[in-house]
Amino acid sequence: MIESKKVDTFIVGGGPGGRIAYMALSKMGKKNALMVMKEEPTVVCSLPYGIGRRLIPGGPEEVVVDLSKSPRLPKDIAKNTIRGEVISLDANTREAIVRTGDAEISVSFEKALLAPGAVPWIPPVDGVLDGVSDEAAPAGESVQVGNNLVDKERLSGNVHVLRSANDARRLDDLARKATHAIIVGSGAIGLETAEALHDRGLKITVIETLPHVTAPLDADMAELVENRLDEKGVRVLTSQKVVAVKSDGVLLESGEYVPGDGVVFATGVRPNLTLARKAGLEIEKGIVTNSRMQTSNEHIYAVGDAVQVADAATGKPVLPLVGTLAMRQGVTAAADIAGMPLKMQPATMWGVSAIFELHWGSIGWTEELAKREKLSVSTVTLPVRTREKAMPSGKEGRWKIVVAEDGNEGGIKAGQILGFQIILDGESPLGTAERFLDIVSFKETVPELFRHFAIHSPSHNPPDDPYLNLFMQYLHA
Ligand SMILES: Cc1cc2nc3c(=O)[nH]c(=O)nc-3n(C[C@H](O)[C@H](O)[C@H](O)COP(=O)(O)OP(=O)(O)OC[C@H]3O[C@@H](n4cnc5c(N)ncnc54)[C@H](O)[C@@H]3O)c2cc1C
Repeated sequence: MIESKKVDTFIVGGGPGGRIAYMALSKMGKKNALMVMKEEPTVVCSLPYGIGRRLIPGGPEEVVVDLSKSPRLPKDIAKNTIRGEVISLDANTREAIVRTGDAEISVSFEKALLAPGAVPWIPPVDGVLDGVSDEAAPAGESVQVGNNLVDKERLSGNVHVLRSANDARRLDDLARKATHAIIVGSGAIGLETAEALHDRGLKITVIETLPHVTAPLDADMAELVENRLDEKGVRVLTSQKVVAVKSDGVLLESGEYVPGDGVVFATGVRPNLTLARKAGLEIEKGIVTNSRMQTSNEHIYAVGDAVQVADAATGKPVLPLVGTLAMRQGVTAAADIAGMPLKMQPATMWGVSAIFELHWGSIGWTEELAKREKLSVSTVTLPVRTREKAMPSGKEGRWKIVVAEDGNEGGIKAGQILGFQIILDGESPLGTAERFLDIVSFKETVPELFRHFAIHSPSHNPPDDPYLNLFMQYLHA
């Protein structure tokens, strides 16, 4: 141990949750904060576009955040940040140990704020790891293979994930050298990576275990995404499991061998709970907090992907895993530490992305997810056009709402809108998706759609009011 420090607030993790908490603390006059981060601060969401180069021609380096030059972040953030790993945190003595290379720093703190995020998860299939045993705690960037957290350096040379700037650099390199990439998993990150590598001229095969792509959409919505992938020459294999990774491709459970130079696993993430476990904090699906982001220890706060939240529509614990929520939670925790209480409301899961100009959004519960959770639901699907019929430039799309059939003891009301899905060709669904984020979060019912007014302007949309259409179609159903 060569150094010791004493700070008011100790922040673990330099992702969106940690960075915005630092910023909020500074704005609220709490200047004595220290942030420790294992990975480079990066605008992670933009990494696929850096790899693809079409939207971010400068590549992944453009979205790595230089803390000392950021116009948004406080001037002193670089000075008060350590690149290293917090290897232990004692919630009672309020002391933590940070490892930086070979050195260790002891930090004592008044309050700690954990923003350790999530790590990519890979199914434990043959050939994913290079075979070198690693029982020690990971020292570099981590990935979870099955139940084991391992250092990313242990991944086989042709196996990739996408969570950090280093992952993006490796994929950028793959894009330079390879001709055929295999993407395992077809959620937003899988398909954004598929498009990026397609933009770089690679042949793409997407492999998905589920019967259709894009799990945040139901099958009847996801078919539009599958059609678009097919039009662009992307091969999609659904209901298929990878059972082994070889140096030149993957073997499927069906016996088929799919050749490829690189394999990208976009098979989900798991909350990073290592430190919270060591600190003895209460954990269920993720770290448990109250609405002020305090954990089971009043001196320790937690925010972001590692934290579970109450689903606004149903009250069930969920892991929304989105950066926008990490930032809201970061500000909430900082405000409480600074003595200005804010409260996080229950939240709604969402996913919004685009693949080859086909935009999709999913808010709250899909029909498939609701049925798996034994919620009794009905649905209304509405074909939409982006302009009136007389305008040939108009393109087709689809809306779908998922509606609770009965009320129940969890507080769900009969007729409550539990979920919304939208597909729009060539146009952003954000305005509508955000409106439904509120509709679902505020537990509104179909008749309450009537109070949502629509705007019509021929250069932006067709004349019929989709809220009225949904309402009337529901009455008719
Ligand atoms: C490719 C991609 C696209 C995405 N697109 C979107 C999008 O469009 N919109 C959106 O809202 N969200 C998106 N997300 C999700 C979003 O990036 C995450 O929800 C967000 O980064 C979570 O923030 P966080 O601060 O909780 O954690 P993270 O961003 O995961 O940061 C946590 C950091 O803490 C570090 N850390 C962990 N443990 C320790 C330790 N013991 N010591 C020191 N450091 C530690 C980790 O190394 C990591 O760098 C995307 C994610 C990916 C991967």
